[in-house]
Amino acid sequence: MRGGADGGGDGIGRDRARSVILFIGDGMGATQRDAARRLLGRPLVMDGLPVHGRVGTASADPVALVTDSAAAGTALATGVKTLNGSIAIGPGGERLTSMLDLAKAAGKATGLVTTCQVTDATPAAFGAHVPSRTEQDEIARQYIEETGVDVILGGGEDFWYPAGDPGMFPDDPGDEPTEWSRGTRGNLVRRAIERGYTYVSSAEGLRQARGRKVLGLFANQNLFDAAPPGRGARYEPIVSLAEMTTRAIELLAADSDGFFLMVEEAAIDRMAHKNNAALAVGAVLHLDRAVAAGLAYAERHPDTLIIVTADHECGGLEAGALASDRDEGIDDTPDDETRQPQDPADRDFRRTWGLRWTTTGHTAAAVPLSATGPGSERLAGEIDNVDLFPIVVGAMALIPAPRELALAPSGGSERGAPR
Ligand SMILES: [Zn+2]
Repeated sequence: MRGGADGGGDGIGRDRARSVILFIGDGMGATQRDAARRLLGRPLVMDGLPVHGRVGTASADPVALVTDSAAAGTALATGVKTLNGSIAIGPGGERLTSMLDLAKAAGKATGLVTTCQVTDATPAAFGAHVPSRTEQDEIARQYIEETGVDVILGGGEDFWYPAGDPGMFPDDPGDEPTEWSRGTRGNLVRRAIERGYTYVSSAEGLRQARGRKVLGLFANQNLFDAAPPGRGARYEPIVSLAEMTTRAIELLAADSDGFFLMVEEAAIDRMAHKNNAALAVGAVLHLDRAVAAGLAYAERHPDTLIIVTADHECGGLEAGALASDRDEGIDDTPDDETRQPQDPADRDFRRTWGLRWTTTGHTAAAVPLSATGPGSERLAGEIDNVDLFPIVVGAMALIPAPRELALAPSGGSERGAPR
C-alpha cells in the first residue's frame, strides 16, 4: 500500500497524497505503545506500518520545561513552535496557517475527530486560531463559521450551547456535577444547522447522517471519565473512536479532491494524568482500532498518507521497572489530587506489565511515529514536531515544497540529526 500505484484516476501522481489521515495519541509515548502491544499479545496495527520514526516534542515556551497539548498541536498542525496554551497563534501573537487550513483552501474536505471535547487543544490547533485553549466556545464558532471544518465529531457539547440551554445532554448529570452548558457565543448547534451541517448526538444518528457537513457531539465533555484507579474512571464512549473514524472517512471521501482528517485518542493522556495504567494503555488499543479503519481505506485508496504519532508523552511511564512494595509509594502519591489508597487491581496490572509512573504531568520525551503512503518515507528517523507540517503539505502538494524539503533525501531514513 506504500506509495500507491495509481492516483485514484484523477491525474495526481503516485508521489502525491490526495488524502491524509493523521492519528494523534495524546500523551502516547513509547512505553504506552509498548505496554499496549504486550497487552494485546501481538504487534499493534500501527506497528505494522512500514515507516517508523521518533518526534521531538518541545514547545517554544520560555518557562515550561515540557509542552502542553496546545503548543504541541500547534507545532504539528502549523510547523511553528509556540507558547503553551496557544492555538495556532505564534509566539509573537501572529496567526498561523494549519495543514487543515491549506487542505481546505485546496478544495479538500476536512475533518476533526476526538474522544474528548472536539474543541480541546489538539483538534483546535488544526481548525481554529485563538490565544488561549480555554476559549472553547470561540473555537467551536470558528470551526463552523470561519474554518468550515466539514466533519466534526467528539465531545464537549457544553461549549456549543449557552448557559441555561442544556442541549441534548442534560446539565449536572448525577455523576458529573461539573458538566453544564457554558458557551458565550450563542447556540452554535443551531448556527451549524443553519450553515448546512447535519447535527447528530448518538451512534445511530451518526450512522444515518448524510451530507457533506456533519457535526456530532456525543457528550457534555469527554466521551470518558478520567480518574485514578478505583475512583470511578470509565471508558465507555457512546460512539467508539473507530466508528467515528470510519464514518468521518465515509463522509469526507465523497469529496473527489480528497480530504484531511485528524483523529485523536485523548484518553491516553487523560488517564495518564491520573496514573491510571489500565485505561491509559487500553486507550492505545482504541486508537489502534481507529488506525485499522484508516488503513482499510488506504488499502483501497493508495494515494492516502497515514500518520500515527503523539503530541507528547504523559505520565513518564516506565517499563520493566517492576515495582517493589517500597516503590509503590513513589507511584501512588504523586500529588494531592491523585493521592489514593492503593488499588489492588491497578497494582496487579502494573506489575503484570512492569509499569511505573514517574509523574502526573507531561514529559519532554520524544514520541514514536509510524506512517505509510505517499511522502511517508520523509517521516522516518529522528524528526521534530515542526517537521511534520512541511512534509504533509509537501506530500499533498498544497503549497510549493518548502526549502528544507529539497535538502531531505527522498528515499528513506538518512535524514539528518534531530532539529
Ligand atoms: Zn495532558
